[in-house]
Formats: sequence, C-alpha cells, structure tokens
Amino acid sequence: MTPSHLTFERRPHPSPRPTAEREAILAAPGFGRHFTDHMVTIAWTEDRGWHNARLEPYAPIPMDPSNMTLHYGQAIFEGLKAYAQPDKTVAMFRPEVNARRFQLSARRLAMPELPVDTFVEACELLVREDAAWVPQEPEHTLYLRPFMIASENSLGVRPAASYLFAVIATPAGAYFPGGVEPVSVWVSQSYVRAAPGGTGAAKCAGNYAASLIAQAEAAQQGCDQVVWLDAVERRWIEEVGVMNLCFVYGTGSDATIVTPRLTDTLLAGVTRDSLLSLAGELGYATRETRISVEDWQTGCADGSISEVFACGTAAVITPVGQARTADTSWTIADGRPGPVSLRLREALLRRQTGADTDPHGWLHPC
Ligand code: PMP
Repeated sequence: MTPSHLTFERRPHPSPRPTAEREAILAAPGFGRHFTDHMVTIAWTEDRGWHNARLEPYAPIPMDPSNMTLHYGQAIFEGLKAYAQPDKTVAMFRPEVNARRFQLSARRLAMPELPVDTFVEACELLVREDAAWVPQEPEHTLYLRPFMIASENSLGVRPAASYLFAVIATPAGAYFPGGVEPVSVWVSQSYVRAAPGGTGAAKCAGNYAASLIAQAEAAQQGCDQVVWLDAVERRWIEEVGVMNLCFVYGTGSDATIVTPRLTDTLLAGVTRDSLLSLAGELGYATRETRISVEDWQTGCADGSISEVFACGTAAVITPVGQARTADTSWTIADGRPGPVSLRLREALLRRQTGADTDPHGWLHPC
C-alpha cells in the first residue's frame, strides 16, 4: 500500500451489484459502459488544500448550472489499467507516470497538483475495494479513469477556487477480440490537435472535444483514425487519434523504432515510453526525431519503412495498414500487422500481466 499524507474515509456500498449481474457484465464488458460499485473522491479548496478523501459508492456528482467546469472547461483526466496477475493479485501499470502527467495537465490548466502518492493511493484503494470487477480473461482489464474538475460555482473567467478529484473504474474487454487488425489513417490537413504554447501535452477534456470533428472527417474518408500534423508547417507527424505513432525502419534484428520526439504539442504516452524501453531490451535501436508526411510516404515506397504502429493504453499497439491524404494514399508494406509490432505488443502485454519478470518495477501491486 502506498502511504499518502491524506487519510481516506472508507464508506463501502450498502448494496453492491449482485454477483450474477457483475459476472454478466464481465462476460461482455465492452468499454466505458459499466462502472464498478465504488469511486474515490478528494476535494480541494484554497484554504484547506486537499481534504475529504473518500472511498464511497459510485454515484452522480451534483452540479450547479453555474459550475465553472461547464463554462470554462477546467477538466483533466488520466487513463490507466489494472491487470490480473498469475498469482491472483492485481497490479496497476506505472501509475506514478500517469500521476506525474496528471500534475503536468493540472499545471497547464491552472489547477492544483495532486501529490503523486495520493493519486496512486486513490487508484489503489478503488482497485482493492472493487477487486471482484477485475476481469480474468486474457487481454481484459480494469480501466481506471482519474479526473479533476472545477467545483466552484461562478461565471468569472479565472481559475476556480475549488476542485473535485475522482477516480472511477470500468471493466474493459479485449481491444482486438478477433486478433490484431490494422487500421487505416487519414492525414488531416484541415484541423490541428495542438499548437505550440497550447494544451497538446496536457490531457484536458477540451483537446478531445476539439478532435472529434477531425475524427468524423477521417470516418467520412473511409479511415479509422486521424493523423495529426504540426500546427506551424502542417508537415510533421505528431500523433494518431488518441495514440502516439511509431515507424519501424529496417527489418528483423536490424529494425529501428522511430517516433516523433516529445514537444509541448504531443501527449507523452506511457505506452510510448514503455515501448521505447522494451524495444531497447529486445535489441532494437530507437530514435526520437521529426518525421514528415513525405518521409513516411517515401519510406514506404522505397521499402525502408517496414511497419507503422500506433500505441496507447487502450490497445497497446495498433498496426497501421494504410494512410491517406487529400491527394494520395499508400499502403505500409503489405498492409498486415508486422512482426516487430506484434513482438513488441506481446512483450509489453507479458510485462503488464506478470507473465514476464518486471526488471523496472513497472507493476504496482494493489
Ligand atoms: N496521445 C493522446 C492524445 C492520448 O489521449 C493518449 C491516451 N492517453 C495517448 C497519446 C497514449 O498515451 P498512453 O500510452 O499513456 O495511453
């Protein structure tokens, strides 16, 4: 158990969901449709700082129509998973990295920073209380959604004087139930996700609201996901949908994993960071640099790029099979998931589920 400076009051649910109902949900959880019996909440005010830390029944959050979040969007969140381990325990994957990113998001949105240990303890408490909701099927997980919103009621345009932090959890099914499938991507020329000095490196709600129209455009073009280009030159590749993007140059043990370097317009993915580390351990070279759309296209045409994949907590690795812009389209190798992508995916899943040793202490037992 991670000790934090706050004492959490435990208010267990008086009538948690019956076992049969829970098991029916766990048999086909989908994603983000069903929530566990509890949530954790912590309040913050200017005078008291973080206080009223509670584990309590999952329930609606009462909100005044003048709540500042509804008007000015001080809302940030995180996404991480808890995995059933072979010894029947449950472990979260690198929660302290999400905690630090949550602090970065809070700073950017002029919100108070929750201490890392408090963030981790809040997640841990919820996983322990709702351990029966952790799916046991391979590739099924318990997805945790920590978030923070303003709780002051006012129409003044300024940082709120009070906030609510909460963690909720939803069981998640396998991302690729029928086996890993490649996606097609649309390189958006009309919309940008993030501009220098903006909020791209923060995980704030507004970034996702602003991305939806571009995702709709990608779907109209018959593509699964949108590729984001830089806002200045509209040339450099940044991310894809809500994932980071990696390019495999070369093949076999000579492969190099290349990914856009982090700037204030990219979200620093925990999966991206973990894969860069794992790739090194598996003997691949890695490089963080700038990659343009032209580099991508010519690399596929001359065969120097052998695989492209997106990475994020939800799907771990999603191979990219085809790319399209308004003018042209191309296929990545034969359009099928490549061996390096699949090997990295398997290796990371094995770390997350405790099938392999954990040399970096990435697993956080709950
Ligand atoms: N980019 C964006 C915009 C995202 O929302 C996410 C998901 N958090 C990622 C990348 C991948 O991050 P992670 O590996 O931490 O899930």
